[in-house]
Order: sequence, then C-alpha cells, then structure tokens
Amino acid sequence: MRQILDAINNGATGGQLASIKLPTTYKAAVLEKNDAEMFAGVASRDKDPRKSLKLREVPVPDLAPDEAVIAVMASSINFNTVWSSIFEPVSTFGSLTRLAKESAWAKRHDLPYHVVGSDGSGVVLRVGTAVRNWKPGDRVTIHCNHVDDQDPSAHDDSMLGANQRIWGYETNFGGLAEICVVKANQLMPKPAHLSWEEAAVNALCNSTSYRMLVSQNGANMKQGDVVLIWGATGGIGAYAVQYVLNGGGIPVGVVSSADKARILKEMGCEAVIDRSKAGYKFWNDDDSHNEVEWRRFGGDIRALVGEDPDIVFEHPGRSTFGASMYVAKKGGTVVTCAATSGYMMEFDNRYFWMRLKRLVGSHFANYREAYAANRLIAKGMIDPVLSRTFALDQVGEAAYQVHRNMHEGKIGVLCLAQTEGEGVTDHELRTKVGEARLRRFRRGCSPKSTTWQSQSAT
Ligand code: NAP
Repeated sequence: MRQILDAINNGATGGQLASIKLPTTYKAAVLEKNDAEMFAGVASRDKDPRKSLKLREVPVPDLAPDEAVIAVMASSINFNTVWSSIFEPVSTFGSLTRLAKESAWAKRHDLPYHVVGSDGSGVVLRVGTAVRNWKPGDRVTIHCNHVDDQDPSAHDDSMLGANQRIWGYETNFGGLAEICVVKANQLMPKPAHLSWEEAAVNALCNSTSYRMLVSQNGANMKQGDVVLIWGATGGIGAYAVQYVLNGGGIPVGVVSSADKARILKEMGCEAVIDRSKAGYKFWNDDDSHNEVEWRRFGGDIRALVGEDPDIVFEHPGRSTFGASMYVAKKGGTVVTCAATSGYMMEFDNRYFWMRLKRLVGSHFANYREAYAANRLIAKGMIDPVLSRTFALDQVGEAAYQVHRNMHEGKIGVLCLAQTEGEGVTDHELRTKVGEARLRRFRRGCSPKSTTWQSQSAT
C-alpha cells in the first residue's frame, strides 16, 4: 500500500500506477457474519456500532471485466452503515447471499465478512477488460448505485432495475477501506477544488437529495416552491436546503438545536423551526395521532412563510410522517426516502385524498442523476457538508455518532489519505467558492489519522 500511496502523492502517471503490483490484502472496516445476532434483545438506540464494526486485513478480490479497483483516499459514514452495523432492519449478509446467486462474478460477494461503506473518493488503480471510459490514474468519486445493466428492467430508470443494489450495503467490497472494487458505471470525476475527504462525503446524500427534489423522478421542484425539510442540517437535509435555494425555492428547515438553526441561517435558510424548542408531540401516549399538534406545526410553518409547503422532504418516518402528510399544501407532494424512526407509518387519508396530494417514494439516484448532482459539486454550486473527519480505525466511533444524532452534515473518514486537506488540484475554483462556504459545517478538531501507522505495523 505504501508504494501506491507514495505514487499517488507524487503525481504518478496512470501507466506508472498500473505497473505497481497490487497488494494481496488491504485494511477494511468489516462486519462479521458470526456477529449478526450480537445485539439480539437490545433496544435499537443501544445497539453500538463500535462493537460490531472491526478493522481487518482482507484479500483483494479478483476484478470482473466491467469493474475497477480504486485506491480509496477517503470515504464517509452514511446512515446505511449505521443500519448494517446494528443489523437492522435485517442483517446485510442475506443480501450478499442473494447477490451471489446471480453470476459467477457475483459469488465473490458472499463472504463471512462484509466490507461496508457507500461513498468514496480515490484513484483508479486497475480497470477490467470491458471498461472504456476510465483508466488507471483517474481521480474519481464513487456513487453507490450497483446495477445489472444486462437486465432490461434497468434501462428506463436504473433505480427500477430488478437487481438494483446499494454498493457497500447490499454488496461487498465497499468504500470504508484502503481499496474498493466498483462497477465502472459507478465512477464520476472527483471535484478538483475539494480535498479527498470533502470529495468523499457527497455522492450518496447529494444524489439522493437531487433525485428527491430536482429530478422528474422525484418532486420536480419549481421556482417559488415552499419546501419543508426535516433534518435540514443532516446528511441529506443539508444538500436539500442547497437545492431549494439554488432552484429558487423557499426552504423551511426543521432542526433540533440552536446550533443547527444557526448553521441553517448561515446557509441562507431564513425559515427555521427548532423542533426541540417547539416540543411537538405528534403521537399521544396511547399510540394515537395528535392532530392538534399537526395543526400547531402547520401554523408555525404558515407563520414563517405565509403558506403551506408545496413539497415535504420526508425521511424521519413514523414519528413525523402523519404530520408531513397533513401539512403539505392542497395538491402538494410528500417525497420520502427513509424511515429513521420506524417504517410502519400512519397518516389520515382524508387529508390526503380530499386535498389531492401526492406521495412519491424515492431511493438513491440513477447514474445520470448522480452525475448531474456531482457536476454541481464540481462547479462549486453545491458544497460538501463535511463536519468532522475520523481515521479508518475509528469507523465504529464515527458510525456511533451518526447513530446517536451527535453530528451535523456528514462525517468523513480518511482511508489512505494521511491528513485532511490533501488532493486539491483546482486552487482557483477553491478560492472562488471560498473556505467560509466549504468549512461551514466544520466542528472542532478531528482526530489524527492512525491508519497508516496501524497498516505498517502488520
Ligand atoms: P442524518 O445525517 O442522521 O440526518 C437525519 C436528521 O433527521 C437528523 O440529524 C435529525 O435532525 C433528523 N431526525 C432524526 N430523527 C428524527 C425524528 N424522529 N424526528 C424529526 N427529525 C428527525 O441522516 P441522513 O444521512 O440525512 O439520512 C436520513 C435518513 O435517510 C436515514 O434513515 C437514511 O438511511 C436515509 N437515506 C436514504 C437514502 C435512500 O437512497 N433511500 C439515501 C440517504 C439516506 P435534527 O435532530 O436536527 O432534527
């Protein structure tokens, strides 16, 4: 690994990188199949990713013709790594077993360990014989849509593909590692004005928000639309706020602290609701809905922007869904991609049909959408929302912080990159965008990377 890292840092050409022998093993954050029952009987909140996520040396897999091997410089924590590390709603090992049945190459994924992680920035080291558009030396970011492009169902919108999966969650060889293996159609150019860790945190959340709000497959937001955004400084929410502002909409951001409210105001989101301060109680103690509280919430939105939301950007799920469906404007759209607080949702259908609302289910993004979202990052029109960076051997702690909602924006993970700030090549664009915007979410100092030290010790 050292030779590869030195070559990257010294600006080696693609040819030089291709001539360096790949190591046979690499360090990776893994879950182990034997641990799948370790949290049986423990409440969700108390399931601790620090116990399940382990750093291990694992073999480099063989390369299929349509794949690429990437030296991962940085990655990020997504909520899906929280789900997989607490084995909820189900263990991800079942997905690996099902994937393995699809082809000879897919068999590689079914292992007693799962290398997790659905984001990454890095450098292409090898490409398979069928790869046309990428070559060793290319600097890339990785989106997580893993598609079987030989399946007809994937050729309208690839998210509708019968075998569509999320890389590093429903497949093996994910991004929280020194090396990862991806399909070539997951690659996108690395935004040149960003460091490795800034470039690594965007693809999953940014593309998801793009599809939910901007794409015709989502809410198809128009200028002037009022958009209610839950978790507006969280992973997907912080990109959603930027899309609404960029597209001439009016964001109403919901957060749970004064600190987060301040970040939102700094981003240009004027209408902010602090849900902790407001103390909404959408559910009664007997598990029935509290419509009075829905009305109070709707009244608070009207007090801020004078009207009901055209679009509700929904993902907390059970705790908020009834309220989201209620407050959406007549003819409005609720777009949802998740259910963090519980997936069995309830709402009052009378307010849905009589007010002619739409409910849109959304999941990640197809390659075109992810590419369009990445282009906006590369042009400096959407900013990364990196708040902290952890070293690869601290992945458990990083996932724990996201699980317990102790973070803002996105948490980055240094994989091969030794320190923050490496990898910027377009300094002119960086100056134009400005450090103030790029560091808006940054909090405190990050722990020093110990990845290389632990690697060289083995
Ligand atoms: P995140 O960084 O943890 O942010 C979510 C935010 O939602 C939290 O910071 C919190 O903000 C708010 N929230 C959490 N529980 C809430 C509740 N009960 N009521 C109201 N607000 C609540 O997570 P993320 O990356 O944004 O992801 C959010 C969800 O979307 C996760 O479940 C994730 O798995 C899912 N997701 C799905 C896709 C997909 O493709 N389907 C893609 C990305 C993410 P405040 O405390 O400040 O209110």
